[in-house]
Amino acid sequence: MKCVALGDRRAWLVDAPDPTPEGEWVVVKLHASPICGSDMHGYHAGGEHFGGGHEGVGEVVAVDTAHRLRVGDRVLVHPASGCGECWRCRSGSYIHCRNMPPGSGGHFAQYVRKQEWLCPKLPEDISYDLASLMGCALSPAYQALVRMEVSAFHTVLITGLGPVGLGAVALAKFMGAEVIAVDPEPWRRERARQMGAEEALDPLATDVLAFLRERTSGEGVHRALDASGKPDAERLCIDAVRALGKVAFIGENPGTIEYGPSNDGIRRGIEIIAAWHQNLSSVDDLVTFLRRFPHAGLLISHTFGFLQVDQAFATFAGRQSAKVVLHPWQ
Ligand SMILES: [Zn+2]
Ligand SMILES: [Zn+2]
Repeated sequence: MKCVALGDRRAWLVDAPDPTPEGEWVVVKLHASPICGSDMHGYHAGGEHFGGGHEGVGEVVAVDTAHRLRVGDRVLVHPASGCGECWRCRSGSYIHCRNMPPGSGGHFAQYVRKQEWLCPKLPEDISYDLASLMGCALSPAYQALVRMEVSAFHTVLITGLGPVGLGAVALAKFMGAEVIAVDPEPWRRERARQMGAEEALDPLATDVLAFLRERTSGEGVHRALDASGKPDAERLCIDAVRALGKVAFIGENPGTIEYGPSNDGIRRGIEIIAAWHQNLSSVDDLVTFLRRFPHAGLLISHTFGFLQVDQAFATFAGRQSAKVVLHPWQ
């Protein structure tokens, strides 16, 4: 099969052995594999990096002793893996499993091998492209917004409008909230407006904190979510929420930000949460979102066949895009 290699700001195809089914591990022929911001580390780094890609959907093409899935089933392929036995796996949060078995493989490939319990079936009326959004474009934001109990009574600040932040805008609008979106990139702000954001602000041209205070009678927003992983934006989220507000971080930041347990936490009563990747229990609600939200298709701006993989990564790196989806068989 063909799979994607990354490095030195280039992407190209290499040959790899076809995976084989074994026990509960089935082989899925991938039809849509989105690019995630976290895949760009390998793209920008020197050298040659394989095994990228952790989102995707496709069709089961080979089974061994798996009993729930059959050849021909259309499935979502979860990232990574899990033991399937521990409390983390049983609660759906397999992504935090401490006994992940090896052998899952990256999703920038024509085939991937996965345990059948990590391949929920897709309904026939959801296209492969749309279904592929159930990975990083929607799932971390879905978990964060649900845990923050976002509702139509809330004003929600969303910072960082890459595919993950745009997914958060879409979901927060679907949940009925007023959305104030923030990103320095005009293309991304325009896309947030198209999906229903009431405001889309440039943090380099606007005092966002003053704007939010003015708009909320000095109280601050009810909820704030950062998808940028940028310390300034994360700190803005903490500063922008009102007393007893909730903040979510879903953009990777391996560094640190300032947080005062008294001044930020105790005396304001605010709550901070974070979410990563997918939870098994998110799938049904995300299918409902994909069926009912009229602008879900706007979360994908480009699709490219594997033969244009270099152009696909260059497009994503250019920041003038929402989700960029690869089609491994084109
Ligand atoms: Zn991702
Ligand atoms: Zn486990």
